[in-house]
Amino acid sequence: MAAACNRQKQSSLREDLTCPICCDLFTEPVMLGCMHHFCKRCISTYWRGLHTPVSCPQCRKEFTSRQFQTNYLVTAMVEKVRATTNESYVKDVELQLKESLETHRRRREDFLSVIRRDKEKMENIKRAGSELQGRVQGEFQALRAVLDEEEASVLEQLREEQEAALEQLQRHLEAVRETVRQLEHSMRVLHEAATATDHNALVELPQIRAPVDVSPAPELDMEAFSSRYLAPLQYITWRKMFTSLKPGPAPVTFDVYTAHPSIYVSRDRTLAVDCDRVAPCQPNPKRFLQCVNILGAQGFQAGRHYWEVHVGNKAKWDLGVASDGVDRQARVKLSPESGYWTLRLRQSDQYSAGTQPWTRLQVLSCPQRIGVFLDCEERRVSFYNADDMSLLFSFSNGPRGKVLPFFSPCISDINQQPQPIQLLHHPPVALIH
Ligand SMILES: [Zn+2]
Ligand SMILES: [Zn+2]
Repeated sequence: MAAACNRQKQSSLREDLTCPICCDLFTEPVMLGCMHHFCKRCISTYWRGLHTPVSCPQCRKEFTSRQFQTNYLVTAMVEKVRATTNESYVKDVELQLKESLETHRRRREDFLSVIRRDKEKMENIKRAGSELQGRVQGEFQALRAVLDEEEASVLEQLREEQEAALEQLQRHLEAVRETVRQLEHSMRVLHEAATATDHNALVELPQIRAPVDVSPAPELDMEAFSSRYLAPLQYITWRKMFTSLKPGPAPVTFDVYTAHPSIYVSRDRTLAVDCDRVAPCQPNPKRFLQCVNILGAQGFQAGRHYWEVHVGNKAKWDLGVASDGVDRQARVKLSPESGYWTLRLRQSDQYSAGTQPWTRLQVLSCPQRIGVFLDCEERRVSFYNADDMSLLFSFSNGPRGKVLPFFSPCISDINQQPQPIQLLHHPPVALIH
């Protein structure tokens, strides 16, 4: 539409700039006194055959002299029209327009696909958010169910104890009442006998039942009764809830048969420390021989598991999980590719995740305890600062198949006293084992 309009304008301009003699665009246009324009050559040729006075071929106005003026404005316009109506120029402009249009079309397509991708991402976030929301609600619902169950159980116990005590007293009350009834009956009989002695000569004692002895009322120990319920109920319940946590802290122990010969393990298998001498030990394929490593005794291949490790102020350590099948005779770099999902500390404050290459972590406060979370179904291994439960790092490309808790106390520097790695067993967990 706009192009057609443009062409129309251009053709009317072309007509205005066309010489009425040669019917072509002006060449060296000149203006006569009547303001009509012609090519210089056309009007000169036209006038050449005429005697004075000469006239304008268009309006027939006569002039005494053969005078005309060069019109530079018209000259410039003619040049412009000539240049812009030139075929190769038009083709060039058309090409440029086409290319520019194509560029714009492509850019628009690009931006439209950016919009599509943004929308997709938003949908994904919404989907993941609502799925996670469901999970979080599920976790809290499970906790609340445990709490409700515990509350109902404590209240039921209280009710039963109260019922039992009341029932005991009720039975005693009945027995006393029966005795009172018997006594009253005997009293009536005795009274009748006493009044009969006034009229009758024969006096004899009536047959009455000997008074029954009633055992004293049962003494309910109110102190003991109350004490059970005036207890730190919240703490007691919280400790009991530990056993229902899924996952609750797992009581992991060290597997001494896997320990490198320079690792000393405590008798209860919860403490491992490096020592500078190598202990003689039975050769076995489960034992680490190259690296100062040790595994946990508990293997996991399903479900979700969490355990805590006290690392204290040790300057260096590695810990996490290892595939059951890792080569324990070889010296390997710890990474998921070689069957290890680990967190490491070096030089007291340099924390890294065991990726290849290492991923340095910004850890604000040095954790004394590390929490390891293993989700076999989601193939996730995560590490927490167990002092405040902040997330340190999470592997989403976790293991397949059986894995074992993994530890390396590392070799302490010569000037440093070796410090142990300790597996934490929370008291409520220890209660049930
Ligand atoms: Zn002309
Ligand atoms: Zn004229």
